[in-house]
Amino acid sequence: MTESFSPQRWANTLTLLLNGVHGAAAERFPVQVPELAKEYSRHRFPDDPVSLVAGDILPTFDGALYKAPPGKKGWGIIYNSAIASRGRINFTIAHEFGHYLLHRLRFPDGLECGQQDMMRWDSEYRQIEAQANEFAASLLMPLDDFRRQIDGKTKPTLDDLGGCAERYGVSLVAASLRWLQYTERRSVMVVSRDGYVLWARSSPTALRTGAYFKTAGRPPIAVPTRSLAAQPDLLEKSRGQMTHDSDVWFAEPCEEIALASDQYDFTISLLHLERVIRTSRFDEAEDDEDAFDVMTRRLTGGN
Ligand SMILES: [Zn+2]
Repeated sequence: MTESFSPQRWANTLTLLLNGVHGAAAERFPVQVPELAKEYSRHRFPDDPVSLVAGDILPTFDGALYKAPPGKKGWGIIYNSAIASRGRINFTIAHEFGHYLLHRLRFPDGLECGQQDMMRWDSEYRQIEAQANEFAASLLMPLDDFRRQIDGKTKPTLDDLGGCAERYGVSLVAASLRWLQYTERRSVMVVSRDGYVLWARSSPTALRTGAYFKTAGRPPIAVPTRSLAAQPDLLEKSRGQMTHDSDVWFAEPCEEIALASDQYDFTISLLHLERVIRTSRFDEAEDDEDAFDVMTRRLTGGN
């Protein structure tokens, strides 16, 4: 029956287990996924456990879940040992552990996952990857603990989010995406390269009030010429902050915090917008969530 568990249910099961073992002890985070995957699967699925977690030279992808070779039982989680970031490796292992728990029966030969698979959390991208990411994010960054670090009303700096990335042993992008899922603020993260938006993610309130970029299935969107993302020479030590008038990123003012990442070869812009936007259309929408969801789907073409 456990194969029908949702990503969230698996993550909650493991989170309760870890809370029980560690309580509030300092070593609760970051979650030691290799040991957890091996020990938990050995008890829960003794005939089909994760028997190996190891780095290897992987040519074109970041992580994989492989069936053990004939004569051996279980599965191997392999990550690309060329990845320099400990956080990216940790998230990759958790993502593959998610595939093991959620998808190994559907994919008896296993799965190989690229960098995009770990970073695109939207289900429009690819559902099984979104599920593995939801599991990994929930396991590594439980919301109750994250809220204690940055509450839902706080406007975090890159250092605040970087502190959480450190705490949970994940990349800054992963910590920022997790924060965007629960913040009450209107904020948008835009990831760009060479002056074009690769993808973007909005907080629920930003999405609801029309602050989002749709990138899937569209021609590339250029970053605004007056944005920090378009002016890397304005960054100091790869980071910067700028307040924008209307008509830079959106038809309203916003604050942009930008970080150029050498590691990934892209720029992250975190855009903080004003707290509340009130138009008659959105007032109506807030009163009627269902109608609003329908509208959002229509506007974004999403599901
Ligand atoms: Zn994957």
